[in-house]
Amino acid sequence: MEPIIKSQDQLYCNSLTSYSRRKTIPVNVGGVLIGGDNPIVVQSMTTVDTMDTQGSVEQCIRMIESGCQLIRITAPSIKEAENLKNIKDELRKRGYSTPLVADIHFTPNAAEVAAKIVEKVRINPGNYADKKKFEVIEYTDESYQEELNRIRERFLPLVKICKEHGTAMRIGTNHGSLSDRIMSRYGDTPLGMVESALEFLRICEDENYHDIVISMKSSNTQVMVQAYRLLVQKLVEGGFKPYPLHLGVTEAGEAEDGRIKSAVGIGTLLEDGLGDTVRVSLTEDPEFEAPVAKALIDRYSKRTPHAEIKKIEEYPIHPFDHEKRHTYEVFNFGGHHVPRVITDISKIEKISEKEIKQTGHFYLPELDKWKMNDQGCDFVFSGSNPIPFMLPNGMKEIQYAEIWKQQSDQINKFPLFNLDEYANSSDFHLELNFLEIFDTEIEEVIPIIADRKDTVLILKTSNKHAMPALRRAFVSLMESNTEIPVVVKIAYPDQDHDLTMLYAATDVGGLLIDGLGDGIFISLEKENQTDRQEILDQVKLHNSVGFGVLQAARTRMSKTEYISCPSCGRTLFDLQETTAMIRKRTDHLKGVKIGIMGCIVNGPGEMADADYGYVGSGKGKITLYKGKEVMKRSVPSERAVDELIEIIKEDGMWNESDSI
Ligand code: SF4
Repeated sequence: MEPIIKSQDQLYCNSLTSYSRRKTIPVNVGGVLIGGDNPIVVQSMTTVDTMDTQGSVEQCIRMIESGCQLIRITAPSIKEAENLKNIKDELRKRGYSTPLVADIHFTPNAAEVAAKIVEKVRINPGNYADKKKFEVIEYTDESYQEELNRIRERFLPLVKICKEHGTAMRIGTNHGSLSDRIMSRYGDTPLGMVESALEFLRICEDENYHDIVISMKSSNTQVMVQAYRLLVQKLVEGGFKPYPLHLGVTEAGEAEDGRIKSAVGIGTLLEDGLGDTVRVSLTEDPEFEAPVAKALIDRYSKRTPHAEIKKIEEYPIHPFDHEKRHTYEVFNFGGHHVPRVITDISKIEKISEKEIKQTGHFYLPELDKWKMNDQGCDFVFSGSNPIPFMLPNGMKEIQYAEIWKQQSDQINKFPLFNLDEYANSSDFHLELNFLEIFDTEIEEVIPIIADRKDTVLILKTSNKHAMPALRRAFVSLMESNTEIPVVVKIAYPDQDHDLTMLYAATDVGGLLIDGLGDGIFISLEKENQTDRQEILDQVKLHNSVGFGVLQAARTRMSKTEYISCPSCGRTLFDLQETTAMIRKRTDHLKGVKIGIMGCIVNGPGEMADADYGYVGSGKGKITLYKGKEVMKRSVPSERAVDELIEIIKEDGMWNESDSI
């Protein structure tokens, strides 16, 4: 296998095998230090209208009390920028010193006002000096340079104000709102995102202004991760200072989906030591965001020391592109198959037909029929507790090898071996066997499995630095050209639901982003529950988290994807209520991506690659999109969901709900 990265100099992080935070320059934001050796900072953004001083202050306080160390507030025009002073004064009067950040899109004059009031200004390089026209223009080198000169002229006053007032800045690129200039030259690629920030960064450096934090957000986790990595590499290559990184996944959505998607993107980067401040964007009240960000960050405070992971000399994985690891097909694993979900029910003795519904498979006694929903797991792991009823077609069971060997019907049942059993067994399933190993056993296993086209590896680790340890095992397989499919097995004993969700998303999502893994298996191993209902709840959670992680890493679409903005002071309708309403009517449209955006200013750009869009375009007015194309303008909000469904139907993407 040809290595992609041949030396440390080409890497995007300090180490792929040993936890180490990237060294950055510290940036002082009103006393909160981002970067350097300082702890990773938690931040979030208000959703109240910026002109509502009291409402904004009350919300800021709720956010601060939930763990927010930095608060961003939108300033769409000069009047909101000016009102930041009232918000700040009131907060200080009430004893809160949390620094404020003004969020700017399209309005340099508002930025210039805000920079004199608040501690940090966020600009979007895609729209600071450009209005998006979705035009593809052919630029010559000369006309491109002219554009850059125009930007410099527009941007320089802000840089000077920031320098003079000690105000920090975030150059915050969004995948969905790149300028027409960048799109024409680079497309909406990670490289385009990086270049978009560098255009502005060069101006800052020329002015000797360095109080800068950079972000590369996208709602597509693969693009987001690749863009941050590429940014680090380009900063090094271009001789820029090592600026701190602000991590975030845009429009992540709500509830479990929003948390999983955020953790896949943010967690993957944190694992490699990237990131100095984190904002989790959920379509929920902002005080729910900081605890999620904190849970993601806290994991690294105890990361070192961790068990040693063998160094990687040459790296065969492309960090800036998604390329699935090449595997051969075993049964329905590997090859061209989507990653599989194995759901663990092994702690439940004599599971009933009714209870197995936690795995997405339903028995309907009135019809004496089995059905499964979009999250019906591919395999159930029963361990030493075989399923005591006849398996319906399609349901497949994995058992410990010793149990499997005693079964009379072995067609839909498959054995799971440990290394010792596997090496000494002469009795195998003809088509599909599972071999469970630790990452540390990989070198020993490779010669044993090299020629086996009837086996899938179940890979697990006990290393605290789990994702990199598992990744190292994949690298060993790639180095030896061993193309066996691999399912990643993880276990989180003694944890609440939220942490299981976030950790599974980080550990397995981080691998899937890099094309590694042909399945996910969240184990009940060591779970300390004894209450049957609690275990069943855990099974249900693991099953849905399994599918959620695959979807968030964009490797298997099993449900409708909602790209909903977190809302801010620009929002024109109740995002949470509207998202819930749209979800209720459309959540059976497997694989369809629906953007739900609070305003027409940023919404169309930021809903990225949504198939359909529902965008606030005025009080009580919605504009509906198919891709980037406007289908209906200014639809009264009472009719907008029906009209959206009409558009989906006309497009042939609708099917009637078959809810169970
Ligand atoms: S799309 Fe949503 S979060 Fe973004 S500016 Fe508009 S309302 Fe605010």
